[in-house]
Amino acid sequence: MDPQRERIQADLRGLLSGEVFCDDPFTLMYASDASVYQMRPLGVVRPRGLSDVQAVVRYAAEQSIPIHARGAGTGLAGESLGPGLMVDFSRSMRRIVGISGDTVTVQPGVVLGQLNRYLAGFGRQFGPDPATGGVTTMGSVLALDNSGSNWLRHGSARKQVVNMQVVLADSETMEVGCQPVTDDPHRDANPRRRDLVRRLAELIDREQALIKERQPKAWVNRCGYHLYDVLHDDKEHHRELDLARLIVGSEGTLALITQATLRTVPIPKHRGIALLFFDKLESAAIAATDAQSLGLAACDLIDRRILSLARDIDDHYARAIPRDAEAMLIIEQQGEDERDVIDGLQQAIIRWQRRQRLAFGFHMALAPDELDAFRRLTRRVSPTLYRVQGAERPTPFVEDIAVPPQALPDFLVRLQNVLKAHQVTASFFAHAGHGQLHVRPFLNLADPNDARKMQSLADELYEEVFKVGGTISGEHGSGLSRTWFLRKQFGPLYDVFREVKRIFDPHNLFNPGKVIADVPQPITKNLRTFQPNGMLADPTVVLSPVLEEAAAATPDIKPLELYLVWDNKLPATANACNGCGRCRTQSPDARMCPIFRFAPSEEASPRAKANLMRAVVSGQLDPALLAKDELKQIADLCVNCHQCRLECPAAVDIPKLMIEAKAQFVASNGLGTADWVLTRLDSVARWSSRFATVSNWLLHTRWTRWLLEKAIGIAQGRKLPRIASSSFLRRAEKRRLTRPTRRTGGKVLYFVDLYANWYDVELAEALVAVMEHNNIAVYVHPQQLPSGMNRLAVGDVERARDIAARNVRVLAEAVRQGYEIVCTEPTAALCLTHEYTDLLDDDDARLVAAHTHEACTYLWQMHEAGKLELNFQPLNLTLGYHLPCHLRALEVGSPGENLLRLIRGVNVRRIERGCSGMAGTFGLKRENYRASLRAGWGLIRAMRDPAIQFGTTECSACKIQMEQGTAKPTIHPLKILALAYGVMPEIELLLSSRSEELTVT
Ligand SMILES: Cc1cc2nc3c(=O)[nH]c(=O)nc-3n(C[C@H](O)[C@H](O)[C@H](O)COP(=O)(O)OP(=O)(O)OC[C@H]3O[C@@H](n4cnc5c(N)ncnc54)[C@H](O)[C@@H]3O)c2cc1C
Ligand code: SF4
Ligand code: SF4
Repeated sequence: MDPQRERIQADLRGLLSGEVFCDDPFTLMYASDASVYQMRPLGVVRPRGLSDVQAVVRYAAEQSIPIHARGAGTGLAGESLGPGLMVDFSRSMRRIVGISGDTVTVQPGVVLGQLNRYLAGFGRQFGPDPATGGVTTMGSVLALDNSGSNWLRHGSARKQVVNMQVVLADSETMEVGCQPVTDDPHRDANPRRRDLVRRLAELIDREQALIKERQPKAWVNRCGYHLYDVLHDDKEHHRELDLARLIVGSEGTLALITQATLRTVPIPKHRGIALLFFDKLESAAIAATDAQSLGLAACDLIDRRILSLARDIDDHYARAIPRDAEAMLIIEQQGEDERDVIDGLQQAIIRWQRRQRLAFGFHMALAPDELDAFRRLTRRVSPTLYRVQGAERPTPFVEDIAVPPQALPDFLVRLQNVLKAHQVTASFFAHAGHGQLHVRPFLNLADPNDARKMQSLADELYEEVFKVGGTISGEHGSGLSRTWFLRKQFGPLYDVFREVKRIFDPHNLFNPGKVIADVPQPITKNLRTFQPNGMLADPTVVLSPVLEEAAAATPDIKPLELYLVWDNKLPATANACNGCGRCRTQSPDARMCPIFRFAPSEEASPRAKANLMRAVVSGQLDPALLAKDELKQIADLCVNCHQCRLECPAAVDIPKLMIEAKAQFVASNGLGTADWVLTRLDSVARWSSRFATVSNWLLHTRWTRWLLEKAIGIAQGRKLPRIASSSFLRRAEKRRLTRPTRRTGGKVLYFVDLYANWYDVELAEALVAVMEHNNIAVYVHPQQLPSGMNRLAVGDVERARDIAARNVRVLAEAVRQGYEIVCTEPTAALCLTHEYTDLLDDDDARLVAAHTHEACTYLWQMHEAGKLELNFQPLNLTLGYHLPCHLRALEVGSPGENLLRLIRGVNVRRIERGCSGMAGTFGLKRENYRASLRAGWGLIRAMRDPAIQFGTTECSACKIQMEQGTAKPTIHPLKILALAYGVMPEIELLLSSRSEELTVT
């Protein structure tokens, strides 16, 4: 850290109770958002409350350091980026203060989705619905005056604000709402506010004509300051100024919002959606001009490119959207009466399809699951674009144009002409009903030609916008990409905005360079363009001359030796993250990062990890830091659950990036004590099974557990499984299963892994019994080793690679002899199918990956082929099923659950509470124990439901968590199958003894 940063960090840590970070990793993690820009702040402050905010503003004012407020950092125009102090409200100021009647009071870091879940308990919601609602913070919703598809119904955020608490640039705090314009202290006791209001009112009064003249004709506008509707007369003809509304939409340039009271609206009882298909984009735009007169709640337009991507990501979309649709309108109607909702949609369909013959088809979505799927579609469209492979990416910089809705059809033609002239393609998504158009040209910003095109494209496109009375931003704000054009849009009115800024913030402390700038930054400055530098010891990476020079100038930086197989794709992987922030979601209907979920700070997010690795491979961060604790602590915030890889719109492989980072650390420092022991569980188990009775007794006595916690860091409170007296591999040998079969027909090699071998031998027996019952011969290769996933997850890559090589050798040979490999442990299946190919760059690893199946998946595929025996005896059981993350990561659906549903009398209840919180051996460690319980609390609580008799899951670690807070056992679905087939009566004994125990308790 340089001396200036060090001093600022020390000063601020002395002044605040919140967190302050000025080190390289933190400032680089916060250097970007979802825009195309990157600017490294001096430091990051995470205030705990109002007094921290005041203190940091006071300090910044004294030191003349700019302040940039930040919520979730998902702005598309670089609104929160800057070189000063970044104040992150999302970490510690996230409290819903209270609800009263039709208003709710929130701190700025409250996430909109979280607020709506809370309000739903009262039958209410916050009306405006930006697509990023799952992650965006209320401070930003207000600072950017956000809106979304439902603008036609609810307008934007400024319509919903009642009052706010703000901190001004001189650190004074004030409540702002609709304020009287007065000098009378009886009407407003706050002299600072009286003065502010009076000066603003004078300015607005004086410039009334200009304000009116330059107001864009588009229905929505997010540019400049909103002056046209904030000054009026109250009922008694006194002048009043709506100060809150003026600050809403000011992008953190006028004041910092520290609390807000907002209006809420009832959740509509009924909703319906209809899709209308068009063979021309313009026809859809013409139809949309009627949206408001038809009383629709939403009317969005989606172009052909996005429709074809949508078809790939969801069956609902694939079934409903015809391949020949050039454009689609997705319309929504809401109301208290179901009939009215349906009638409203039908009216639109009749007008556009039958009367005007604009649409060629339609699809109504009224059933709840379909309705949800299509409501999600509009939120998923932009992120979906990032799945498009190639150097040219959808680039947000002219993505927020709004025009009067009547002008939209004509404007689309003008827009396409400009794009054609630049030989650029683009995707279109529009809230067409209110004229808001999100267009993302496909550009490769690493190519100087494309970077140059940005400027000319924006120049020409915006000329067309101005011609039709539109605005260059309807809902995202000006930020770094549009401030340059504001003077052009507003002409002399820009000087009035400048005066507003001077009245609030005379020293230009708050978010300088946004909205108001003496010399606005050209839109091609501070671009987050990316080139790998010479840190990679990969001769195939070609350096640009500039970076070659930079690498030569820093000879003390050692090349980075990579531990995983990257095939030259590490830079591209790190760079694939577009910063959309979706991985910050805590929504219950997503599985995104379990670690961020219970510790919602930027460094815990998958995005932060991509940003850090990008900084390393581009030379902004010294790779030597990977061997230091500060980066290791951040890497340890990834437990290799793979959920972000699945749910990230750009499919960024964060878990692989983090294994690489951990490997770098382990290569220099070795493993910590707990990791050392937990990666040698196989040896520990072999040794302790020799004295199984004593070991089990010892493992369940308080003092041994105390000792284990103190000596090696295994949490004392964690229930541990019992060790078997003889391993399954030994039993298999006795039963001659370790010899290749001579039978013809189906045959599998059972990859046993650690848990079934030492702790749940019965599970392994169940697999053999179920397979044999289905005439599948089972071979248990005696030389197989546990998968090594526990080693890989902590970065012990070299040893994991040895294990992988030995396993691949025996498994590949078996595959060549006609065996398919089955695993009862989903983690083992994931390791063999996914991780081994990251460790070994050879054909045998790929062969093994292609022939490995999770055991229930294998059986379910047999069922689908009509080959599974269905002679199950009925059972009378209610089971709580948990889908493990690693099974989900295999992308095979829920085969174990499906199999259980084939058994008569078995009632399977899916427990949808996300990750169990165990994450392999993560939840076993003392330092993670509480966090793990918190993450898995929903699941543990669901298991306590008296209606659930037993838990069921495929994963051994999730089983430990499910049994943590209850006496109910959790049983692998295969054991239940074995019981129902009547091939393992001992399981019945187990169940009945537990049932009695349960009844007694
Ligand atoms: C895929 C995608 C889809 C999007 N869809 C929409 C959409 O449908 N509608 C829409 O309106 N936007 C949309 N956006 C833009 C953006 O996500 C939203 O504008 C969102 O509100 C930004 O929230 P944030 O918390 O990430 O803000 P940040 O990016 O962190 O900050 C945004 C601005 O708010 C200011 N700010 C934050 N907190 C405060 C505070 N307490 N006091 C003062 N100023 C503050 C910041 O300084 C900055 O200027 C989308 C973005 C993406 C990536
Ligand atoms: S990791 Fe994926 S979800 Fe997270 S910010 Fe990056 S692109 Fe978005
Ligand atoms: S793999 Fe899991 S723990 Fe790691 S960053 Fe992704 S979601 Fe978070």
